[in-house]
Amino acid sequence: MSEEEKAGILFVCMRCGRKTPLSELESLPEIKCICGYRVLKKDRPPMVRQVKAI
Ligand SMILES: [Zn+2]
Repeated sequence: MSEEEKAGILFVCMRCGRKTPLSELESLPEIKCICGYRVLKKDRPPMVRQVKAI
């Protein structure tokens, strides 16, 4: 998975609702929100990718 793809994946905190990109979570020692809550739900990518038909 490329860095660009990771940046498109968001995790939503189940407590405060903050969205954190996967790339940011991976830079942390453990997966958790900045509020300290560890239950995060995977969100849909914010943009729809267009795939070229070859
Ligand atoms: Zn939070």
